[in-house]
Amino acid sequence: MTSYDFDLFTIGGGSGGVRAARFAAATGAKVAIAEERWFGGTCVNVGCVPKKLFSYAAHFREDFHDAAGFGWSGPVPSFDWLTLIANKDKEIHRLNGIYEQILGKAGVEIIKGRATLIDHHTVEVAGRRITARHILVATGGKPQRDTRPGAAELGLVSDDLFFLPALPRRVLVAGGGYIAVEFAGIFNGLGSQVTQVYRGDLFLRGFDDDVRRFLKAEMEKKGIRLVFNQIIERIEKTAGGQAVTFSDGSVAEYDAVVYAIGRVPNVAGLGLEAAGVKLNDKGAIAVDRFSQTSVPSIHAIGDVTDRVNLTPVALAEGMALVKTLFQGKPTAMDHANIPTAVFSHPPIGTVGLTEGQARREYGAVDIYRSDFKPLKHTLSGSGERTLMKLIVEPKSDRVVGAHMVGLDAPEILQGIGIALKAGATKADFDATIGIHPTAAEEFVTMRDRVAEPAAKAAE
Ligand code: FAD
Ligand code: NDP
Repeated sequence: MTSYDFDLFTIGGGSGGVRAARFAAATGAKVAIAEERWFGGTCVNVGCVPKKLFSYAAHFREDFHDAAGFGWSGPVPSFDWLTLIANKDKEIHRLNGIYEQILGKAGVEIIKGRATLIDHHTVEVAGRRITARHILVATGGKPQRDTRPGAAELGLVSDDLFFLPALPRRVLVAGGGYIAVEFAGIFNGLGSQVTQVYRGDLFLRGFDDDVRRFLKAEMEKKGIRLVFNQIIERIEKTAGGQAVTFSDGSVAEYDAVVYAIGRVPNVAGLGLEAAGVKLNDKGAIAVDRFSQTSVPSIHAIGDVTDRVNLTPVALAEGMALVKTLFQGKPTAMDHANIPTAVFSHPPIGTVGLTEGQARREYGAVDIYRSDFKPLKHTLSGSGERTLMKLIVEPKSDRVVGAHMVGLDAPEILQGIGIALKAGATKADFDATIGIHPTAAEEFVTMRDRVAEPAAKAAE
């Protein structure tokens, strides 16, 4: 039998790579991991974690304002960007250390450096050639850059936002996906003047239309300027900032222009071609249900495969792979009913099908919808409202989609996600006793089907 240096060599110490390496080592496998930049990958360093910390920071402005209706008074505290950045950096540095410690304790050999594939069983890293029975590519993705004039030199991408030297006063965010709406809310909350420009009719394509329309209205109430059906044609440096020319010919000046126009898989210079690993038509590593590439000894998980680009999905793909390769239990990753949240202000929580998808799949569906002022805002004076929506397949009575926009939506939808995964029916929701007084109880007390069809918008 051929002998290898390792049973598993993982390229990339982000969400998916660390999880797979750790749990493979726990089965007794001999494992090594290479990371070229920072342990924890995108999520810990320039993604989920610092983004959520920024989002908390941005909520305080409203919280201070809301407190007055409850009897609190006093000078409104001021915000210091550099304190936020320093405290965030300290926490992320702590997390980097924890990731390394976890790997070390699990017995994984840590190699710092950029790894490339040499052949089906060999990688090169830090001047060493290392062989492995299985190689895992978990190299993640990076921000897509625009190529129009000025974008490369003057435009920012999400990675940059976590290290800005100062809070920009006037911010333009381009894009209509998760990152664009999240950062529009963050900068607005922190006190910047924010404009968001999106190339289509309505942002968050792929989300439920009611959710998209509702969030648009809520963001506008908070003072964010939303511009649809436009793109940035050009950015030029001016004495006072950056002049942006839009596709309708209009020009406006900003202090920061942020491109959040998607991410691309990290495949360049990895040696994939030499090793015979094929890409799909999106430029991501093509894999089967078991995360196996076109080369049987090479697997890929997480954002580099561009399936569902979320941290818990990369973790689950890593766990499924460990079962397949090291526990004798071939396990395909189940990508159905993945709950997700957009940490916009207010946030979105969602699981299952949108109304449009459900109608396409089942024909007629029953819709339950509730749009209300949360109890907190009866005294706070805030005009923020909450939306909840359930989509039910009438023949089986199964709830096939649940959506919420409003305070705590991501926290609430995690539990609803379990219900959908378990195949809960509307009758099960109705039989569940509410927790009072909460917003979440609305999910188990929506009794009346919505009579009118949802307004039409492209999904
Ligand atoms: P990554 O975490 O990107 O890790 C890949 C690692 O591989 C990196 O550390 C990289 O340095 C390393 N690497 C690359 N090439 C090599 C090489 N050749 N050799 C050695 N090392 C290499 N997801 C959520 O679920 N919730 C959120 O709230 C959320 N917020 C986000 C906010 C932002 C701004 C961004 C950008 C992403 C966010 N995501 C969120 C998505 C989430 O971060 C990714 O889905 C997740 O990090 C993917 O994990 P991964 O292991 O595939 O890749
Ligand atoms: P998304 O893919 O979510 O959105 C990209 C946006 O940019 C879309 O609105 C797209 O428009 C638009 N766009 C694409 N190309 C261009 C272009 N050339 N010019 C103008 N606009 C363009 O990407 P993000 O960068 O927002 O986020 C990447 C991924 O990271 C997310 O999809 C998600 O998987 C993950 N993520 C998850 C988060 C969470 O869980 N809360 C938070 C942040 C990121 P169109 O719709 O018309 O194609």
